[in-house]
Amino acid sequence: MSKSTNSRDTVAGVAVPTSLFINGAWRQSNGGRLFDVADPATGKVIATVSDADTTDAEEALAAAAQAQQTWGLTSPRERAAILLAAFYAVQAKRHEIAAVITAEMGRPLAESLAEVDYGAEFLRWFAEQTAHVHGDYGPSPSGAFRVVTTKVPVGPSLLITPWNFPLAMGTRKIGAALAAGCTVILKPAAQTPLTAALLVEILADVGVPDGVVNLIPTNDAGGQSKALMNDARLRKVSFTGSTTVGSVLLRQAADHVLKSSMELGGNGPFLVLHDADVDAAVDGAMIAKFRNGGQSCVAANRFIVHKNVADRFTAELADRTAALKVGEGTIAGVGVGPLIDARQRDKVHELVADAVQRGARALCGGSLIEGEGYFYAPTVLADVPSDARINHEEIFGPVAPITVVESDEEAIRLANDTPYGLAAFVYTGDGARAFTVAERLEAGMIGINRGLVSEAGAPFGGIKASGLGREGGHLGIEEYLETKYFALDLTVPSARNEGAAL
Ligand code: NAP
Repeated sequence: MSKSTNSRDTVAGVAVPTSLFINGAWRQSNGGRLFDVADPATGKVIATVSDADTTDAEEALAAAAQAQQTWGLTSPRERAAILLAAFYAVQAKRHEIAAVITAEMGRPLAESLAEVDYGAEFLRWFAEQTAHVHGDYGPSPSGAFRVVTTKVPVGPSLLITPWNFPLAMGTRKIGAALAAGCTVILKPAAQTPLTAALLVEILADVGVPDGVVNLIPTNDAGGQSKALMNDARLRKVSFTGSTTVGSVLLRQAADHVLKSSMELGGNGPFLVLHDADVDAAVDGAMIAKFRNGGQSCVAANRFIVHKNVADRFTAELADRTAALKVGEGTIAGVGVGPLIDARQRDKVHELVADAVQRGARALCGGSLIEGEGYFYAPTVLADVPSDARINHEEIFGPVAPITVVESDEEAIRLANDTPYGLAAFVYTGDGARAFTVAERLEAGMIGINRGLVSEAGAPFGGIKASGLGREGGHLGIEEYLETKYFALDLTVPSARNEGAAL
């Protein structure tokens, strides 16, 4: 089967581009190959997308390198105007985009709308950041000359995004890159290329010049990224995804000493201390655990609860979890959609089965849901032994394992007992204790009496095996800037001044 140059499929009533976008034009891949996109709620194919090969990737990089020459010289206000127009255009299409997100990755529609609002904010935030990129001027320590610094765009950037937040992961990277004056090649996850195509179409519609944003959906992520990272014209890779793939990319980046940003996996601890407001902790836990069905890198992975509040917290969390409605994201009142695919659903069940086999009790759920799609019953596990795999691996599913502790000290020790360090959560009624504990948690982001940390205006990122760099906040744009320094000697008269004196 082949498709026309600028082909579209209708998904959830929305006509979505299914081609590559290179140098300002929608077109099919050179090899003419296609791949399918399926709805995880049904397993059925909803679109067929052009599959970029290495010649397409090379053309995308050539376009980005060419466009860099002019885009890098545009004024901050010019770039801001385009990003702000994109912010409003995404908002204007929020229902269409949300419908496509739900169709290709399964999340309940209300959550997809929330992702569109969150994702759009990165475009506005980085539009606002363009005019706040500053240099420095001052004397060298000896006073012999002046130290002058400025910031310049890094250059053409490869952006690789995961399927779990297909819009926001794109805007978080593209917003920062474009604001800094970088051109980009976006490689979306093969499971969710449709939302990325809608975003790129919006960017083109609001006036992003040809070659500044290029889109290469592909079913061979490793092949395309390796080819691009071997090309010296590429200056940066920004990746969001698993720690395993992130490590591979870092090794590849070493060859050309490529500037790298890595937003990787997590194993978020959720601490409920003895003086916590239990109702608030359960509210926070529901968000931290079940948003996106647990398929979030900042999801609470392990619940570490003080024995004084453990019975109440566990009972309330199990009641609220058992009441969650599971089903297709388009159905009103659904709180948990399907997992992304059968592999992920089976992995979640494997972790639950391992915990139960080691002595954990499933207070609700504990099984996959037979039938169409990849659904897993929302689960609360009590009495989870510390050596259970579920305490050490990223679950990425709707399962809350609870471990009871006797002190803050024990809670902190267990929380830090992981190679990851992305998000953590602490619930306590004592402000000083909150900070004393939070300061000792090895995580890049810590929710204090709050189950949601994501915010365009805040620095998102991890420590340890959870990544390098920050996205969003004031630091996000820095990932796409280099500092250039001029040593200026004011004691040497310039030739021009000397000439004028003659
Ligand atoms: P993944 O397998 O690492 O995939 C992420 C992206 O990398 C996809 O676009 C994927 O393409 C691509 N990819 C896969 N293998 C590659 C390779 N060898 N070279 C270059 N690119 C490659 O992760 P995932 O399963 O999609 O996402 C889940 C993971 O992402 C979790 O660990 C989660 O914690 C993490 N995550 C982190 C953050 C954060 O900000 N820290 C945010 C969201 C998710 P294909 O789709 O074609 O395989």
